[in-house]
Amino acid sequence: MQKIMLKAGKEKSLRNRHPWVFSGAIQHAPKDSGTFEVRDHKNQFLALAYFNPQSSLAARVVSWKAGETWDRESLRHRLIAALERRQSLLGPDQTAARIVASEADLLPGLIVDLYSNALVFQILTQGMESMRPVLVELLDEVFRVDIIVERSDEAIRKKEGMEERKTLIKGTIPEGGVEIIEHGIRLLVDIWDGHKTGFYLDQRSNRRMVQDYSKGRRVLNCFSYTGGFSLAALKGGAREVISVDESRPALNIAEGNVARNCLDSSLHSTVQADVFKYLRELRDAGETFDLIVMDPPKFVSDRKHIDRACRGYKDLNLIALQLLSENGILVTFSCSGLLSRDLFQKVLFGAGVDAQCEIQVLEHLSQSDDHPVLLTFPESLYLKGFICRKITTP
Ligand code: SAH
Repeated sequence: MQKIMLKAGKEKSLRNRHPWVFSGAIQHAPKDSGTFEVRDHKNQFLALAYFNPQSSLAARVVSWKAGETWDRESLRHRLIAALERRQSLLGPDQTAARIVASEADLLPGLIVDLYSNALVFQILTQGMESMRPVLVELLDEVFRVDIIVERSDEAIRKKEGMEERKTLIKGTIPEGGVEIIEHGIRLLVDIWDGHKTGFYLDQRSNRRMVQDYSKGRRVLNCFSYTGGFSLAALKGGAREVISVDESRPALNIAEGNVARNCLDSSLHSTVQADVFKYLRELRDAGETFDLIVMDPPKFVSDRKHIDRACRGYKDLNLIALQLLSENGILVTFSCSGLLSRDLFQKVLFGAGVDAQCEIQVLEHLSQSDDHPVLLTFPESLYLKGFICRKITTP
C-alpha cells in the first residue's frame, strides 16, 4: 500500500488526534489522490487519511486504527451513527437538524442537514467527492426522505480543485421551499436558493433563549435572514419586532413565517438595508430598543483580516449599545472561527467603554448541539455569543 510519510517532528498533532495534515508536513506522498496510511518518519502508523495533492490541507483523517478500510460500509456506519446521535432532538416540535457536521462527526468534508422530509448535503473536499456515487445511494437508503438536494455550491471547493455543484437528486421541491418546525415554530426553508443549505441551524438553541428574553420588549433583529430570531421573539411576547437584512427574498420568507404561525403581523416589520448604515439612521432618529440581536455573517476567513473584523464587530456592537434602553438586552454573535471568544469579549468590552455603559454578561452562547465541537479539533468551534444587559452608571 502506498503511504504518506511525514517529516520528523510533524507527527505531534496527529498523535493528539487532530485530523488534518498540511502539505508542509509531508516528506513523501503518492502522486495521485486516494486514501492512504499516514506514517511518521520512523514508519510508524499514525492514521488512515484521504489525500488531495492539489490542496495545501493535503490529507484528512478518516480513521485512527491501523488496518481499517475506508469504503461503502464505513461510510454507511458513520452516517447511521451520526443520525442516531441526533435522534433524541428530533420530534414533532423539532423536525430539522444538522445530521453530519463534517470532521466533528468523523466525516471530513461532508455536511448533511435534515429539513423535515428533505435532506440537503454539501461535499467540500475531493476525498469526499470521490465517494459521491456511494454517498448518494446511502443517503437515500439510510434517511428514507422524499427530497434530496446537493448544495455543493461553496466557493471553498475551488481550493480542492473542484467546481461548484447544485442538483436535485430526488423528489420535487415544493414552491418556495420546505417547512420545518423549530421549537414548535413553523419556518419555511428555501433549500434551493437559500444561503448555505437553506437555513442557519446552528442558532437553534440561541433562538430559543431569545424567546425567553422577549416578553413585552421592542426588538431589533439585525442580519435577520428569514427571521428565525424574530419569530422566536414574537412567540415570546415581544411588543414589536423589526427584522433587518440586505436580502429581500429572505425578508419575504420572514414575513411569510409570521403568517404561517398565526402571529400578529402588525407587530412585525422588515427593513431591507445595510445594517451598518441602518443602525446609524436609527441612532440619529433617537430610536431605542429593549432587545437587539446582532448576528452578522462571517467577517474573517484569513488571519490577516482579524483586526479589520474586530473593528466591524466593535462598530456594530457600539451602536447597538447606544440604541438600547436602560437594562436593555444585547444578544450578540461572532461566527468567525478565527476570532476567539476571548478576543470577541474584548471587542465587546471596548464597545461598552466607548458607549459609556456597563455590560453585564448573562449567558455565554455557542453553536447548537447538533453542531458538536470536537476537543481534538478546536476548528469545529466557530460560533460564539453573549447575552448581555446594558446598565448606565449614574
Ligand atoms: N440570524 C439569522 C442568520 C444570519 S446570517 C438566523 O437566525 O437565521 C447573516 C445574514 O446577514 C444573511 O441573511 C445576509 O443576507 C445578511 N447580511 C450580510 N451582510 C449584511 C449587511 N451589511 N447588511 C444587512 N444584512 C447583511
